[in-house]
Amino acid sequence: MLEPLTYRLPITSFRMMDLNKLGEFDLIDLIAQRTPGGPGVLRGIGDDAAVLNAGNGQVCLWTVDTLLEGIHFDLAYYGPDDLGVKSLAVNVSDIAAMGGRPLYALLSLGLPSGVREDQVRLFMAGWDETARAYNVSLVGGDTVYSPQGWTVTVTVMGTCPKDRVVYRAGARVGDFIYVTGNLGSSAAGLYLLQHPAITCPEHVRLAVRQAHLRPVARVTAAVSLAESRLVTAMIDISDGLSSDVGHICTASGVGCEIYASHLPVSETVRECARYAQVDPLEWVLNGGEDYELLFTVRPDAAQEIEERLAVIGEQVSCIGRITPLGDGMRLVKGDDKTPLLPRGYDHFKGRGL
Ligand code: ADP
Ligand code: MG
Repeated sequence: MLEPLTYRLPITSFRMMDLNKLGEFDLIDLIAQRTPGGPGVLRGIGDDAAVLNAGNGQVCLWTVDTLLEGIHFDLAYYGPDDLGVKSLAVNVSDIAAMGGRPLYALLSLGLPSGVREDQVRLFMAGWDETARAYNVSLVGGDTVYSPQGWTVTVTVMGTCPKDRVVYRAGARVGDFIYVTGNLGSSAAGLYLLQHPAITCPEHVRLAVRQAHLRPVARVTAAVSLAESRLVTAMIDISDGLSSDVGHICTASGVGCEIYASHLPVSETVRECARYAQVDPLEWVLNGGEDYELLFTVRPDAAQEIEERLAVIGEQVSCIGRITPLGDGMRLVKGDDKTPLLPRGYDHFKGRGL
């Protein structure tokens, strides 16, 4: 006879875990400590995707992300088609962050009562459009009833030559820190969606809204960066620049300086911030969900990287440099250097759980 599950749990499991003090990343560490890798695991927990030896000099990259109604999205302003786009794009972005190309996806859909067929069709229209754009095939999944809102869990598998995978852990003191595209657009979009009374020009509203609802994964830039073999560390910006540069620093055992004046902010986001009367720096540093690539490069390779991305029409900005671990993470504003705190999104911290 099976013992009741509770009898077999260690006594500590009965303690209420202080989730908001522990935070998302300490929780992941707690899980990671208990989970050794297996044969062929080149990187398990701790990067944007797991890296598994696939033979013939190739690796399999494997990632999963969940979007929950009420946490990641609100159907008051997300169309099901936006959800179809975003749920796939954010996973593709994690494959890109390793330097890989996406290949296959699994889709697990939890749907609450009241969902109509046309909403599911719309979701799939958004999904299909995104799958075509990134050449991803949907090869399986799961469909279940959800008592509390939509849950969308997507797994994407991708590939990369083994010697081109870019990890979070390779940044070295002196490396330059780069980011693709512009930052803060997604947070600006979310702000306007949550504050519909703010007046602002329609083209501004539409642009930032689109950035939030339908992010673009930077696969072309990522593959080019990986091919160069000049990138020492890379991550995609999902939680927010301050947290994601923190992930590179922690994994690499280094510190960093980020130059506020070098951060790429579009005129659209600046205009949006003026109408919203907020400092766009907050969106840029801590807003997250930009899905741009954040990467580090040795100084002597910087020019080659900039030229390489210019050729394929990808915008890139040098926003800082890697410093010794003891210096911590700092934000440089004029002559001022202040600690850069990882204040991007955390699922548990500050929720009063
Ligand atoms: P990202 O923002 O790139 O999607 P996350 O911050 O969600 O990455 O996760 C960081 C790392 O922790 C990843 O390697 C992820 O696979 C791993 N991870 C997160 N949650 C779990 C879990 N419950 N079990 C095992 N690994 C996890
Ligand atoms: Mg990521």
